[in-house]
Amino acid sequence: MTHTKPANSGRACAGARDERAPRESRRTLLKGAALLVAAFPWLAAAGHALAQAKASKASMKYQDKPNGGKDCASCLQFVPGPSASASGTCKVVEGPISPHGWCVAFVAKPPGK
Ligand code: SF4
Repeated sequence: MTHTKPANSGRACAGARDERAPRESRRTLLKGAALLVAAFPWLAAAGHALAQAKASKASMKYQDKPNGGKDCASCLQFVPGPSASASGTCKVVEGPISPHGWCVAFVAKPPGK
């Protein structure tokens, strides 16, 4: 008793398997992530909190006065308050931020911004 394969059966299967493999891996990965979040819902919240975490003023050596003409109002990270003189917020440092403050994370706004 001998078994014979069709001439191209091995190649066709190998090709089909190669195209399906990444999709199956992605599906398996997504299922795994969904199961993880279902089992540990705090994981999603913790990940979001970590992504939102800001540095403390102390760790960034924040001060309420400019440093050599550099201040928060001219920093790319500054989010202005309701008026030009009101405190705003910072994308990287926590808490209210004076437009006249400064810290070591200062990044000058590009001209025209
Ligand atoms: S990064 Fe520093 S200098 Fe820039 S806005 Fe935030 S606190 Fe001010």
